Amino acid sequence: MAKKIIVLAEAKNNELRNVSFEAIAAAKELADGGEVTAVLAGEAIASLGEQLFQYGADRVIVVEHPELANYTTDAYKQAYLQVFDKENPDIVVLGHTSVGKDLSPRLAVKLDGALFSDVVAIEAGDTPVFTRPIYSGKAFEKRKAVEEGPYIVTIRPNNIAALAKEESASGEVETHSVDIQDLRAIVKDVVKKATGGVDLSEANIIVAGGRGVKSADGFKPLQELADLLGGAVGASRGACDAEYCDYSLQIGQTGKVVTPDLYIAVGLSGAIQHLAGMSNSKVIVAINKDPEAPIFEVADYGIVGDLFEVVPLLTEELKAVLV
Ligand code: FAD
Repeated sequence: MAKKIIVLAEAKNNELRNVSFEAIAAAKELADGGEVTAVLAGEAIASLGEQLFQYGADRVIVVEHPELANYTTDAYKQAYLQVFDKENPDIVVLGHTSVGKDLSPRLAVKLDGALFSDVVAIEAGDTPVFTRPIYSGKAFEKRKAVEEGPYIVTIRPNNIAALAKEESASGEVETHSVDIQDLRAIVKDVVKKATGGVDLSEANIIVAGGRGVKSADGFKPLQELADLLGGAVGASRGACDAEYCDYSLQIGQTGKVVTPDLYIAVGLSGAIQHLAGMSNSKVIVAINKDPEAPIFEVADYGIVGDLFEVVPLLTEELKAVLV
């Protein structure tokens, strides 16, 4: 049965996030021939709308308002609920990002619908089945809705492939005006951390360092390797606690959950809390001087050796091939 789906697209630093394109692909599967409408909210973001057609959206609605310039739960919730009132979606799909995690339960309550969060795979059909990791990624469960909808689905970045970009696809971007009032909090200013580079939660390649890296300077060769591969640097909590790097890089149970194509774990032991954030990576390479380190149990490829020798060597070899 054809379903009407809304995708809540997300932009960061004036660029659409890749997970929004993945959400459109997920929505296409769920729509079963129905209409997929991408909704993009913000301030002065209309120019980004066109791209959503190129990744498969049938309609694109842009919602602009000064109170949407920076994300706040209240303002975005109000804006999206007004769009839902008009559009009556059967299903709403969005990324399992910090914004998605914050908004989705609130939207589900307001819609009086189920929430399927952190979905990594979908079996489409009249009653779709959603696969999601449980117990910190040690097992997966499958859930299905017992009612027709509406319901909300958040998808984990890097798990559902986006459709190939169709450069020629275009359409008319619709606008939807919203009334935002009685905000309990507003964002006065956003101060960005000067990390730059590839976004860790969406990176396809991650080079993560642990306490074995021994210092902030020790992370430089890891950054060089990540830059060469077009990836991002991550870290264990051990490395963050030791102040070798910022907590924004922490991967694990109490850090970011990542599923890159390639995860290179350098000088980290592979504690269960770290594995909770990366064990679903497609290919794991571990570099550790201790052959008994638990990280080797989840690694597809292991290099037993001193990271201060292995990482520069690996970078040199890869440079010879890639540059
Ligand atoms: P270590 O366990 O000390 O490992 C360092 C490794 O480096 C060793 O295996 C050693 O053999 C290797 N090494 C040393 N020198 C070299 C060298 N020269 N060359 C090669 N290898 C070398 N941890 C997280 O990572 N993420 C989390 O989100 C997280 N959440 C937690 C939540 C809770 C409630 C608790 C209790 C803990 C949490 N932890 C988390 C901490 C976790 O239990 C571990 O303490 C932490 O992951 C260890 O970090 P590490 O692997 O860098 O350090």
